[in-house]
Amino acid sequence: MSSKQKSPASYEHAIEQLREPERKSRAWLEQSPVCTKIVSLDFNLEYMSSAGVKALQIEDITVHYGKPYPFEFYPESFKNQMAESLEEVKRTGQTATLEAAVVDISGNELWFHSTLVPVNDENGQLDYIIVVSIDTTERNKIENELTLLNKELEQRVISRTQELNDANELLKVLSETDALTKIANRRMYEIRITHNIATAIRTKQYLTLLIVDVDYFKKYNDNYGHAAGDIILKKVAETIDKSLPRATDLVARIGGEEFGILLPATGTSGGFEVAENIRKNIEKLAITHGYSGASGVVTVSIGLSSLKADELEKERLFREADSALYTAKETGRNRCQVFDK
Ligand code: GH3
Ligand code: MG
Ligand code: MG
Repeated sequence: MSSKQKSPASYEHAIEQLREPERKSRAWLEQSPVCTKIVSLDFNLEYMSSAGVKALQIEDITVHYGKPYPFEFYPESFKNQMAESLEEVKRTGQTATLEAAVVDISGNELWFHSTLVPVNDENGQLDYIIVVSIDTTERNKIENELTLLNKELEQRVISRTQELNDANELLKVLSETDALTKIANRRMYEIRITHNIATAIRTKQYLTLLIVDVDYFKKYNDNYGHAAGDIILKKVAETIDKSLPRATDLVARIGGEEFGILLPATGTSGGFEVAENIRKNIEKLAITHGYSGASGVVTVSIGLSSLKADELEKERLFREADSALYTAKETGRNRCQVFDK
């Protein structure tokens, strides 16, 4: 249908009809929370929708139309990124994205995620660039707060775990330590002897056990008092500990005034040497014991058993060392006795 055949009224109606979509798109653009900009190929701002105008607190956007974009008052980093992205879209004809912070007229920092879309004319030639920006300030703020909270939480979990590990470690040490003498207790002795026997069998070596018992200790307690007796036990424990030649040797308080000593990879003669050394060192402390039937000072008797890998057995080792101790007591005390097979 040609325009000549149309009445002026229907002509105007047709124009109205044509304008309608433009009005709708404009209304849609103006009400959208997305900041839409149109940038010409010489990078001048042709249009900015109201979301952006409001966010940036610009009073009259029209004064910026036809003038360079990005704005002069933007921070350098944003300006550079946006300028580079615009150049890139112009060069490649491809969409580009960027996320960077701008400042509004009052200097508040605002984060925008922008998508730069190339728009072609009817001949397929690049015509202008649409820049669509979403304000991500709130989202970023929440994300940052969440990250911070997560870090704090992580740190708290780490430090609580550390505290728990420390407490467990302390508990383990306490559960294996004798409260009075601070050396290993019977529990630790049991753990260690099982371990030492397994190692001795695997490496085909000897394991030696010494049982040390304070001579006439009841008499000491009865005459000098229980507190004084406690001091003796501490001194004996400390002296034995210092007399052990190897880091793998262990002394444990296995009874009231009895100590068990485990000497891995040690046979009878080596074990006897260690036992004699302990006995002499305790005698050398020269702690007066006026009621001992063995000496004028505190002394100990020591029983020794040494078993080879092929005959090693926990109960036997203990039985033999205990029997040797009994012999040492019977034959005068303040002596070391090897189990007589
Ligand atoms: P022997 O020479 O035959 O070993 O005689 P003894 O008196 O040492 O042996 P007995 O088994 O008769 O006495 C051991 C004493 O050890 C009795 C007990 O009161 C004392 N005793 C056990 N544990 C402790 C303790 O923790 N502190 C003190 N002070 N004494 C203890
Ligand atoms: Mg005893
Ligand atoms: Mg005793």
